[in-house]
Amino acid sequence: MRLPVALPAGTARFWVAAAVPALAVIVGAYLLETHGRTIAAAALVAGGVAIAAGRFLVSHRADRRYAKVLESEVATQTRSLMDSLAATAGAERNLRLVMDAVPDAIAVLDRDGRIMELNEAAKRMVAAPLEQGAGRSVFEFLDADAATTVRGRLAAAFAGDVQRFEVAFRRDDGSKGIGALLYAPVRERGEVTRVLALARDITDQKHTEQQLQQAEKLTAMGQLVSGVAHEINNPAAIISGFAQTLLLDEMKPEQREMLQMIYDEATRIGRITSNLLAFARAGGSPRTLVDLNDIVRRTFALRSYHLSTLNIAVTLDLAPEEPKFWADPSELQQMLLNLLINAEQALVAVQTPRAIVVRTAATEEEVRLEVADSGPGIAPEIRAKIFDPFFTTKPEGVGTGLGLSICYGIAREHGGRIWADSQPGRGATFYVALPRDPRREGRPDPESPAPPPPAVGTITVLIVDDETALRNALLRFLGRRGIEGHGVADGVDALRTLQQREFHVIISDVRMPGMSGREFMERLRRDRPDLMARLIFSTGDTFAPDTAALIKEAGLPTVTKPFDFGELERVIRRVAAEADRRRPMASA
Ligand code: ADP
Repeated sequence: MRLPVALPAGTARFWVAAAVPALAVIVGAYLLETHGRTIAAAALVAGGVAIAAGRFLVSHRADRRYAKVLESEVATQTRSLMDSLAATAGAERNLRLVMDAVPDAIAVLDRDGRIMELNEAAKRMVAAPLEQGAGRSVFEFLDADAATTVRGRLAAAFAGDVQRFEVAFRRDDGSKGIGALLYAPVRERGEVTRVLALARDITDQKHTEQQLQQAEKLTAMGQLVSGVAHEINNPAAIISGFAQTLLLDEMKPEQREMLQMIYDEATRIGRITSNLLAFARAGGSPRTLVDLNDIVRRTFALRSYHLSTLNIAVTLDLAPEEPKFWADPSELQQMLLNLLINAEQALVAVQTPRAIVVRTAATEEEVRLEVADSGPGIAPEIRAKIFDPFFTTKPEGVGTGLGLSICYGIAREHGGRIWADSQPGRGATFYVALPRDPRREGRPDPESPAPPPPAVGTITVLIVDDETALRNALLRFLGRRGIEGHGVADGVDALRTLQQREFHVIISDVRMPGMSGREFMERLRRDRPDLMARLIFSTGDTFAPDTAALIKEAGLPTVTKPFDFGELERVIRRVAAEADRRRPMASA
């Protein structure tokens, strides 16, 4: 008979072991019945019983041993499975810890730019929604331009090439940042299945690099320009000087008009060279406690009429706390004026609405000034150049390309920075951040502005300048104004002259061959300290670092070439009167 289902081997063995002795018992009983009590029948029955019992016992023991082996095998396999699961979880946790410890952003991207995995730095680097992280597309966090770049780079990485590039992105505070990216293809069985993206926020580094580059450019340019200014300024000062002297004469109106034009043009040269030098300035001017809002109001007042004629609406959004800080007010005014004029000129190119917003803000550490306009904006291709000296997109006569480089110089001189932000077609915003210098250094003591009494008798002036023509122009003018002048070409000559006679005032050039203005001052301080109050410096280049440092350090009155002779005369009379008041001259 065949069983309908296969029985387990142990069960079959049991049934066979039971059936054979049972059959022997039946056969033995039958023989006993049919053939009587014979020995053979009895032995057969006993043998059958013994075999049955033996087989039963052997089979039962074998089954138990087999089950035990099986049980232990299952336990071993289970243990090893649990161990490898724990090891996998540990490795994954370790990998995550390592990934999160990396300060650069790490993400794994699929072919469509979807983020499969990302570390903590990646979450921090991009805008907040990515907190939810994986599954979102990187393109959600990029501007259109950047998205196009990233798409191309991702495709190239999936084609098997490592990609290194930089791209603009939105930072978690909403500001614009620059990221340095590396895309590395991840291969499985020879096929690129994912791309590993490493990203670093290099915004601050880029910024510093740009500032350094700009500073280097300006230093080189500053050196060149100060040399040129020195050369140009002196002839301009001479022309201006003679023109001013001649203007003191009686003459026909037509001649006066021509002379006035000569004087005006010489003054213009002076303004141009001064502008050229301003962007390379080194901080010679004194700092005072400045109210930023006040500067904005006053500067705006200078332009308000002009702005209204151009139909430009100006909003002043000023910090309510009226932020005050130590700065050079005239430089700040110049900076704001330059920014306002630029905004004005940009707005002329667009139709209404023409708007400018000037905003101030302050924290404990810094003050901020913003000038935003609704003009055409700054094209991306020129953005890196706008702070360069002489870079201009304006027609000749309108732009000199110096406005922003002057602003840059002023911001740098105040230990701050200036930068621009612009979306083409949506205006431009210029930001200036200046530190609220907590040090008291460089702040002038408040002066008592008591008007000096007029000096008695004829004032005498010693002029120390290596430019003969300029000395002559000055001497002639002073002579015409009742001031007695004496000219010498250098400091050595001046010291010799001073041993022989006294002067109410000494005007010394700063840059001279042989003994410089500084050396002359030091000798005077050592040998004739009583004359220090009578010294005036003259210079064509207040912005050269050495000159600026000297002026700052000496704290002496300074007149700038080309001279405004009227102003020069006022300074001479004031210095003479003040020095006489402190210590009257022994003999004139
Ligand atoms: P200039 O005004 O003489 O050209 P600047 O140094 O002030 O020199 O400016 C340099 C260039 O920067 C300008 O020629 C112009 O292209 C650009 N620029 C400056 N301000 C703005 C602005 N508000 N909007 C658009 N472009 C500007």
